[in-house]
Amino acid sequence: SQSIFKSHRPDKPILTTSIFTRVLSSRTPAADDVGGFPGSSTAFIDGATGTSLTRKQLLDLSLSFAYGIQNRPATAPFATRGSTALIYSPNSLAWPVVLFGCVAAGLRCTTANSAYVARELAHQYSDSGSGLVLTAEEGISVVRAMFSEMGISHQEGDKRTIILGRDLRWAGGPAAPVDADCRGLLTLSDLLSGGKLNSEAKFEGALAHETVYLCYSSGTTGKPKGVELSHQNITTILDILAADLFSGVKTPTGNCTTLGFLPFYHLYGLAAILQCTVVLGWSTVIHSQFNPEQFCAAIEKYKVSLAFIVPPVLVVLARHPAVDKYDLSSLEYMLSGAAPLGADLVKQVQRRLGAKRPEGAKVCAIGQAYGLTETSTATHVYNFTETDAKVGSVGTLCSNLEARIVQDEDGIVDAEEGTPGELWVRGKTIMKGYLNNPTATSNSITPDGWFKTGDILVKDKDSYYWVVDRKKELIKYKAFQVAPAELESVLLTHPDIADAAVIGVDSPEQATELPRAYVVHARPQEVMSADRKLAFAQSVVKWMESQVAKHKFLRGGVKVIDTVPKSAAGKILRRELRELAKQEAARG
Ligand code: AMP
Repeated sequence: SQSIFKSHRPDKPILTTSIFTRVLSSRTPAADDVGGFPGSSTAFIDGATGTSLTRKQLLDLSLSFAYGIQNRPATAPFATRGSTALIYSPNSLAWPVVLFGCVAAGLRCTTANSAYVARELAHQYSDSGSGLVLTAEEGISVVRAMFSEMGISHQEGDKRTIILGRDLRWAGGPAAPVDADCRGLLTLSDLLSGGKLNSEAKFEGALAHETVYLCYSSGTTGKPKGVELSHQNITTILDILAADLFSGVKTPTGNCTTLGFLPFYHLYGLAAILQCTVVLGWSTVIHSQFNPEQFCAAIEKYKVSLAFIVPPVLVVLARHPAVDKYDLSSLEYMLSGAAPLGADLVKQVQRRLGAKRPEGAKVCAIGQAYGLTETSTATHVYNFTETDAKVGSVGTLCSNLEARIVQDEDGIVDAEEGTPGELWVRGKTIMKGYLNNPTATSNSITPDGWFKTGDILVKDKDSYYWVVDRKKELIKYKAFQVAPAELESVLLTHPDIADAAVIGVDSPEQATELPRAYVVHARPQEVMSADRKLAFAQSVVKWMESQVAKHKFLRGGVKVIDTVPKSAAGKILRRELRELAKQEAARG
């Protein structure tokens, strides 16, 4: 029988408008009001230079950027409503401007991991049907290699490229010269120096269903696919997160300063850090990466109240000496998401931070969100007002959503309360589908709208959900997606590898999984001895480092085996390999 669970929270109204209109356009008559907050309030701060953007600057600069790309002869052909722009950059102050700017121009954005190599970037650029590429200066050689890999001339590639330089004069920040490699290319500063659109492209009514983001996710199986998220998906999740998750955030000043070092190209960063904070009127300090010393120093300097994190950050906070060097007493909240979080780790960090606070001071509340790119981020939240009793759970179902815990492949039988099953969810935040991939879409969304997460959860008697396992192939290295199918196809291009299978192995010390490959040598007689196997395995680990972005390195090692276990239909039996990995770990 089927049991459909509804959220206990009241439904939020569903808007039919563009994300730009929702987040940034004035909603009250006050002349300097932006998105319902004073235009003079700070939205983003560059952690490296201290340069900041007010809400009004963000609004104006985004409209200037939109005008710039639509009116320059080189970029105009790629900046028509509905075209796609690819953003390839580590976090920077330019990010909110170009993101909102593209949306103001009516473009879709596809966001690429800033560590991608040319082959990975080429896949996303062509699969998403992108035109413009917005890259940080350090990405230019990869972008050029991408165009050449795709057979696009150097000159044509350069015409499609916009450099997000280090020069921050457009934001009132310090000047910096453009790298020699990027000279002659169009920069963000160039684009901002012209006019400004009077108003953003509108996506009212049915147009709110148009795609705005194409984030890449491998889903339950196969290679990374473009997840089509609409304006309505995103405006809905912003209102859900603001109410279900962040309404419990109360700070002494009423303002909240947050830390934004998690990558903006992942939907967690894109929706929660770049957009939800603006909806809430908060300020965000931007860093291009996580660094323990910098993390702690920024909390002290900016009196940060809330940090968006992933579980491995808590491992650092539990152990790193920097935690004792800085005053972290302003840090009242941390939100963890995108990967499994252990209750012990939460308590350990709370104890360590608490030890430095005066008797009776509030402990740092550590909330958790669970969800997927395909569900526009969170479907479940363990917010900041929960009691300790359920720490380790992903909390309860978000508003406007329905859930089932399904026991069989066909979705006919649901699991009993307290027993595990696959989580299926339904609601307005479910993606439209995988771009140009009706098969993958229909495999993941049923005709009556249920999205199959590929995660195994238990719902307890109090309606708290616990993630207990993953049914799908996906590996998460420090919250980054690693698609086994992609690594397997790369491994098969190695001249000495006849067959390969990739799984994730747990590393409790680092609070993450590590990708591990099992490979079959093309000429097994050459690797008969243990020594030879080991040497070959090590050479494969090294070789992989020249092929893929660093989060996909085979940190879990390579093992040489005789055959890859497969079903009669030729499907890799990953469960058997996971068993093998467990036995190997038990043997030490
Ligand atoms: P992504 O689309 O990259 O956000 O990856 C989504 C996947 O990350 C989910 O299907 C889960 O397997 C995993 N995930 C996300 N949040 C959590 C969480 N709070 N706890 C456990 N796993 C999570």
